[in-house]
Amino acid sequence: MDDSSKVDIGFLEEKPSWQLHPKFFPSKVGGKPAWLDKNDIPSNLEACCRKCTDPLTFLCQIYAPFEDRDDAFHRTVFVFICGNKACNKPNCSDNFMVFRCQLPRKNDVYSYEPYNDTVDEAFDMNKWPELCNVCGLNAPSHCAKCKKMFYCCRKHQVNDWHNEHKEICQQILESSENKLNNFIVTQSGKSILFKEWEIIIDQEDEEETSEVDVEKEMDVLHKMMEEKNAGTLGEISEDELDQFVDHHCEDKVYEKFNKRISKHPDQVIRYERGGSPLWITKNVDFDISNIPKCPYCGGERQFEFQIMPQLLNFINVGVEVNSIDWGILAIFTCKQSCNEGLSYKQEYILKQDIRN
Ligand SMILES: [Zn+2]
Ligand SMILES: [Zn+2]
Ligand SMILES: [Zn+2]
Ligand SMILES: [Zn+2]
Repeated sequence: MDDSSKVDIGFLEEKPSWQLHPKFFPSKVGGKPAWLDKNDIPSNLEACCRKCTDPLTFLCQIYAPFEDRDDAFHRTVFVFICGNKACNKPNCSDNFMVFRCQLPRKNDVYSYEPYNDTVDEAFDMNKWPELCNVCGLNAPSHCAKCKKMFYCCRKHQVNDWHNEHKEICQQILESSENKLNNFIVTQSGKSILFKEWEIIIDQEDEEETSEVDVEKEMDVLHKMMEEKNAGTLGEISEDELDQFVDHHCEDKVYEKFNKRISKHPDQVIRYERGGSPLWITKNVDFDISNIPKCPYCGGERQFEFQIMPQLLNFINVGVEVNSIDWGILAIFTCKQSCNEGLSYKQEYILKQDIRN
């Protein structure tokens, strides 16, 4: 992904969990977050729903470095969602949260050169904080018995105890292993996390200018002239024209949206840093010029990517999928991709639905 004006689109592919480990800098959907920096990993206090305060569930992450910038040689944007139905409101993104994280190529977490693509290559987790065995968030508390299993909150601990941990607590207590692979989705994780997929990024085909739209518009005009018994267009006022078009072309934006994605109907991500979202409906009440500034550096934010409604068709495991919904989710990030503040910086997400 680079700074060109072309749009990149993301598709889903099934991959074994080990290939989605943080050391491979994956773009992915579902499972646990493949954190980038080991410092400041959000806990259930940071990654919590602004409506119900439950810990958020990992939705997806996009690896999108600023390759010409040493301090953002690695860069990932993470998106979280609350799966509670009551928190899902039309055109409201209060049940979402976005974090941006970046690292220079030379850092104390990953090797300078790419890792081998093998299943058993060692990766040192010892300096990492403990992560929740269920959801992968930063986890301050542990099982009182074995002291080796960690949880972000009481709810997830209880969930794990009943699902799995009751059976293996003793076993873990007796084992010599003291650090577990925190990125594998456990049995308990499966009950709350989304199905895990890799996101494959590809460039969208060149947009073709289409004759069809023009024809359709002429049709509408002819129909209107018939209805008005008008000989020429000049006999129809601008207002009448607007009203007629509004009435007869239900939602031009929706039409455009469908047309644009029809070539790649399975796309789940559209990535266009510095571009603009492909809106799903004309009911755009959002003022893009009003996107809040970056709270860390005070600079402008820009559009970076959007999540498409198609994603909902792929993630129906764990969280009841009809409890969440969106038209599009548009993510806006600090234009400078600044380095101020914590490792995981909150960015802005906007949700547009078809219904109001
Ligand atoms: Zn909630
Ligand atoms: Zn958790
Ligand atoms: Zn235990
Ligand atoms: Zn900033």
